[in-house]
Amino acid sequence: MIVAIDGPSGSGKSSVAREIARRCGLTYLDTGAMYRSVALACLRRGVDPEDAETVAETARTVRIEFLPDGDGQRVLVDGDEATAQIRTPEVELAVSPVSANPEVRETMVAIQRDFGARGDIVAEGRDIGTVVFPGADVKVFLSASPEARARRRAVQRQGGNLATGEDMAVDADAERAILADLVRRDDYDSSREASPLRPADDAHRIDSSELSFEQVVDAIIGLSPELAERAEGRRP
Ligand code: C5P
Repeated sequence: MIVAIDGPSGSGKSSVAREIARRCGLTYLDTGAMYRSVALACLRRGVDPEDAETVAETARTVRIEFLPDGDGQRVLVDGDEATAQIRTPEVELAVSPVSANPEVRETMVAIQRDFGARGDIVAEGRDIGTVVFPGADVKVFLSASPEARARRRAVQRQGGNLATGEDMAVDADAERAILADLVRRDDYDSSREASPLRPADDAHRIDSSELSFEQVVDAIIGLSPELAERAEGRRP
């Protein structure tokens, strides 16, 4: 079974996809982490993110590994620890031109399809329902207002738990900077020529601005009898 969850930065895709994977016994695939890993490899190898040919070559040669780690996962890039490094502002600046590169996308999409061919997965990203798995069993386009998304990212960065900590106080300057970066990346992702961010025609659209984390997870599981059965079957 393939569950595709797409949406803009900070819509809560990652936490929601991870929870659905846990509750329904699916393997979680974070495709954003793959594009971030290519961007990090470029920075580490001294490759200019705008140099399309060398960036494409970097995507073809980089080794990206996901290792399960408690409730989350560790990321290794060319064998070196990269879990925190792929979330830095430097990588966030470099990832937009890297992910807009059609050859990079071709390489990543092939790896993602291979992953999907080997088992039941929930994959999240920007083009999962439109390009990577157009025949996915369940397709969701998760959005939220830019303000709600910036707030969640700020809570997350301060170490808060999205499921319980939505009301925690956050640094206002940090939140403003996060909002500006989200809007910049959304514009870039939506206006690029290669696989722009857009909902698949048959995707279920969910606006999570006014919904709790649990409500979003339950709404998605409720979309598919197979997901509901899987979640039910795993209940203690
Ligand atoms: O989801 P996340 O914020 O980690 O994604 C990082 C970047 O990777 C996005 O800003 C986007 O440019 C790119 N991306 C993409 N296609 C995907 C997943 C992510 O272009 N399927």
